[in-house]
Amino acid sequence: MALLELTDVAKTYRSAGRTVPAVRGVDLALERGRTVGLVGESGCGKSTLGRIIAGLHPQSAGVVTFDGLALPHAYRDRAVRRRVQMVFQHPYQSLNPRMRVEAIIAEPLRLLAGTTGREADRRVDEVLQLVGLDATYRRRLPRELSGGQQQRVAIARALVSRPDLVVLDEPTSGLDQSVRGRIVALLRHIQAEEGVAYLFISHDLDTVRRLADEVAVMYLGRIVERATTAELFAAPRHPYTRALLSAVPSMDPRRRGTRVPLAGETPSPSELPVGCAFASRCVRALDRCRAEQPELAPDPISADRLVECFNPVPQP
Ligand code: ADP
Ligand code: MG
Repeated sequence: MALLELTDVAKTYRSAGRTVPAVRGVDLALERGRTVGLVGESGCGKSTLGRIIAGLHPQSAGVVTFDGLALPHAYRDRAVRRRVQMVFQHPYQSLNPRMRVEAIIAEPLRLLAGTTGREADRRVDEVLQLVGLDATYRRRLPRELSGGQQQRVAIARALVSRPDLVVLDEPTSGLDQSVRGRIVALLRHIQAEEGVAYLFISHDLDTVRRLADEVAVMYLGRIVERATTAELFAAPRHPYTRALLSAVPSMDPRRRGTRVPLAGETPSPSELPVGCAFASRCVRALDRCRAEQPELAPDPISADRLVECFNPVPQP
């Protein structure tokens, strides 16, 4: 049994008289101690999926299980809640500006594990060290820290309760390139030390490539391709994945000049076409794609990857 399993999960928002199907029938699994990268353009439903998993809002339909326990129901037990934590893009907004670093980090321990006093102190020291901040940071306020240091504190706070899973929603997107690299290295180090699994949400493919074991590509609320990171970056099968990857400048001179730009506009989630939602922008679309919704299914030529496409990109 995987640590986290999503089966046919959907989330529909209702706002201003419109319904927005933000997540539409997602299946996803995440194993202990592993990292799945979730990528896709802004508005495709990545944060919605992350928030469902972390229990910040419930799914409209479908089943989410964490270690075999049905979410969000199981989160009523704080012993379960302790095991799944979240890190957001803007650390300053997620840290209480009036609390000192040591209190910020100790809070989940107190609330979720009932750990206080010297034992809590020891764990705070341990996670501070883990995120590369020395004890002098304990008494600082969030505004006295750089963006990178604030994100380290947010990561320390997420780790302090010894979670099995951390959902990271664009944790490096607000940071400079050099700081970003150090946070990625830090997340890898933490995973090796603590055995935690990550769902790493990002539109920064380069970061995902360095961190994730597996990648799930989302387009308008559905996962359209899932593969190991190596396989996905070597040869994308979904035309959307190929377009997404080709938007990243390649280091490999043999790949330059093979850019397949994304044409056309993304349809509005509240007015989705019949068939594949990507068909209107897809250079490989067939008549069938505009008539029928493809399903995420094992790729006939590569057993351990999944693709949701009637006409996938041929393998080189
Ligand atoms: P991403 O994180 O990939 O950018 P989101 O999950 O934030 O995407 O959003 C997915 C879709 O759901 C978008 O169309 C967005 O406008 C819509 N959406 C997100 N949050 C809400 C909300 N609270 N109410 C209504 N619509 C929402
Ligand atoms: Mg988002």
